Amino acid sequence: MENCIFCKIASGEIQSELVYEDDLVVAFHDQVPLAPVHILIIPRQHIPTFDDLEDRHKDLAGHLLLVSQKIARQNNLQDKGYRLTMNCGRDAGQEVDHLHFHLLGGRALGRLG
Ligand code: AMP
Ligand code: ZN
Repeated sequence: MENCIFCKIASGEIQSELVYEDDLVVAFHDQVPLAPVHILIIPRQHIPTFDDLEDRHKDLAGHLLLVSQKIARQNNLQDKGYRLTMNCGRDAGQEVDHLHFHLLGGRALGRLG
């Protein structure tokens, strides 16, 4: 997708602090971290929102979750806990229209508001 910042990060056109990559998924540090660990996990494929997922994305969706778990463990978050969030659409505050999970941890995160 032209003009999608996360597609450009996935392709390497825009530099980011990558923490993980494979054929399907890329993960990198959020540029405005809200917690000591704040990592974004995205599919390489341009899927705008969670609502755009379809049956054909089943394996990719599962892979995104398991990669998120792996990155949480790599950051030693599994004992104290962490939050995996995904904003879908305007009311949730989604700013970048390329599906992504936020992995947040390293401090007490409080209740979801
Ligand atoms: P959301 O509000 O769920 O769409 O989250 C988008 C996130 O992407 C925000 O937390 C931004 O700080 C982050 N972000 C936007 N551009 C970049 C970038 N070039 N590198 C890293 N993180 C970014
Ligand atoms: Zn994209």
